[in-house]
Amino acid sequence: MKNSGNPGAKEPQIIPRAAHNVTRGEFSKSALKVLYRLHKAGYQAFLVGGCVRDAMLELHPKDFDVATNATPDEVRALFGNCRLIGRRFRLAHVRFGREIIEVATFRAAAVHVDDDSAHDHEGRILRDNVYGTIDEDVWRRDFTCNALYYNIADFSIWDYVGGVKDVERRRLVLIGDPEERLREDPVRMLRAVRFAAKLDFTIDPAVVEAMHHHARLLSNVPAARLFDEFLKLFQAGHAERTFDLLREHGLFAEMFPATEHELLEDEDFMRFVRAALQNTDRRVAAGKSVTPMFLLGVFFWLPVRNLAAIRRAEEKMSESQSLSLASYDILAEQQRRISIPRRFTVPMREMLALQPRFELLNGRRAVKLLEHRRFRAAYDFMLLRSEVGQFDGEAAKFWTDVQTQTASERAASFKLQAKPAKKRPPRRRRRRKKTQGA
Ligand code: ATP
Ligand code: MG
Repeated sequence: MKNSGNPGAKEPQIIPRAAHNVTRGEFSKSALKVLYRLHKAGYQAFLVGGCVRDAMLELHPKDFDVATNATPDEVRALFGNCRLIGRRFRLAHVRFGREIIEVATFRAAAVHVDDDSAHDHEGRILRDNVYGTIDEDVWRRDFTCNALYYNIADFSIWDYVGGVKDVERRRLVLIGDPEERLREDPVRMLRAVRFAAKLDFTIDPAVVEAMHHHARLLSNVPAARLFDEFLKLFQAGHAERTFDLLREHGLFAEMFPATEHELLEDEDFMRFVRAALQNTDRRVAAGKSVTPMFLLGVFFWLPVRNLAAIRRAEEKMSESQSLSLASYDILAEQQRRISIPRRFTVPMREMLALQPRFELLNGRRAVKLLEHRRFRAAYDFMLLRSEVGQFDGEAAKFWTDVQTQTASERAASFKLQAKPAKKRPPRRRRRRKKTQGA
C-alpha cells in the first residue's frame, strides 16, 4: 500500500530528545504546566497534533492539545481551573487566564469499533466515542504529520505512522486508506488543502486521487461545520493559495457553486476575487482584523449583480433594491451548503446594496451615505472594485478625500446649498404611522 502507517502497529518509533528539534520553548507555559501535573500524578501526558507539527517546522504553535490516559474525571480532579465539555465525547478544558488547554483522553478509532452503526451508508463516521490507549488514538487522526506525540516524561517524540519523515519531506499523507478516510469525514479534504496552503506541503498523490473521487461528499457535511471550516480556510493568512488549491481539487465548486460558475465565465470577476483574497492575506499578515462578510460579499458579487439585473428587467425598482433582493435569494441558495450566520449576512447585503450610491457625488443623499453605519465596509468594497477597474477611479478618490475634510469643505464637495439663515423651529418627533407593524 502507498500510505505510511500500519494500522494496529503497537510499537512507535521513539525519537529521543537529542535527535529532534522540538524544544519546550516552543510550547506555552500553561501547556507545560498541564503536562507536568498529569505526569507527576502518574499519567501519560503528550502534546499532540498541530502544535508538535508546527514546532517541528519552527512555526510557533499557538494552540495546544494534550492527550493522556487519564479520564476526564481524573483530569478534573487534578485541576481547579478545569471544565468538562462535550456530551458525546468529553474533553477537559483547563483555563489559564485567556488561554485554554484542551486535554483529551486517548480514544479508539471508530474503525476499531466492531459495529456497523458507527458509519452511515456513505461511510461517514457517526460515532467515535470509545476511550482507548495511545496506540489506538493514533489511528483516528487524519494526517501523519498530525499524529506525532511529544512525551513530557522524557521529551521524546512518539511516531507510529512515519509522521516525522513526512514533515521532513513536507508531505500531507492520510493515515490508512485515503478513500476510506475521506468517506469517513469529507472535511478532511478541506483540511488537506488548508494544511497544504499553510505549511507549504504537497498533498500525497493518493490523497489527491481520493479527493477527486469524493469531492461531492462535501454536500453531506452539515452546513454549520462547513462555515467553521470556511473561516479557517480563508482567515489564516493564506487565502489566495487556499482558493487556488480548493479550485484545483474541485472543492470550491462544492462550497460556492454560484461563485464557481461565474469565475469560469468572467475573467474580470476572477481578478476581483483574487484582489480581495490578496487584500485579506495582507491584512492578516499586518495583524489587522478581517471579517468573513467582506470576502463572502466578494464571492457573491457577480451572482448577485446578474440576478439583480434580471430582477430589474422584470419589475421597476432601484438598483440598490434589486441588489438587496438578489443577495437575499443568492444567500438562501448558498445557505444549503454553508450556513452563514445572520450577523454576517445582514451587513453583507447592506454592503452590496450600497454600491450604486457611490456613483452619486452630490446632494444630501450622498452625505447620508457617508453617515451610513455600513459605509466603511461598503467603501472598502468600492475601492476594491475601482482597483480592478470596475468603478471609476475619480469617484473613488472623491470618497477617499471627503472622509478627511472639514464640515465646510465637505459641504462644498457635495455642492450642498448653504443652509437658510433663519432659525428653524425645534424639530417635532415624527409621528408613528398607524399602520406600522401591520
Ligand atoms: P491547526 O490548529 O493548525 O488548525 P491542528 O492539526 O491542531 O491544526 P485541529 O483542528 O486543532 O488541527 O485538530 C487537532 C488534531 O486533532 C489534529 O492534528 C488531528 O490529529 C486531529 N483531528 C482534528 N480533526 C480531525 C479530523 N477531521 N479527522 C481526524 N483527525 C482530526
Ligand atoms: Mg490545533
